[in-house]
Amino acid sequence: MVYYCWQCYAEADAPSGSCRRCGGRVEAPAQATYVERLLWALDHPLAERQMIAAKVLGRRRERAAVEPLRAIALTAPDPYLAAQALESLIEIEGRDTLREMLLELALSAPAQVRKVARAHSQRGGRGGRGGRGDYR
Ligand SMILES: [Zn+2]
Repeated sequence: MVYYCWQCYAEADAPSGSCRRCGGRVEAPAQATYVERLLWALDHPLAERQMIAAKVLGRRRERAAVEPLRAIALTAPDPYLAAQALESLIEIEGRDTLREMLLELALSAPAQVRKVARAHSQRGGRGGRGGRGDYR
């Protein structure tokens, strides 16, 4: 089993103790909340952990995730992660709030991101699960 340092994301052999790379504690602080752990996982070296974190944060509509998700949606080199981050950002912020960003991404973004942006930037478009109640 491989573990990842809470401070620097280096691989570690044990779930707790000192990190070989940064010398900090490998384990999360005892008081770290579930949301803090999810936010931490947004920068995880494993793409699938990042994806899950982005998805769950969106489903929970975590305001604290807005800025990190926005950054990922705009700059992540992995277009699937960027697309998921955008989906989650829309779940939290609502597509009206994001309209300008969505219009821009619909024109110039990697294909996966463009697809999400287009689905949500069409005026009166259906675009979402469960209808307009989802988007406040
Ligand atoms: Zn470390």
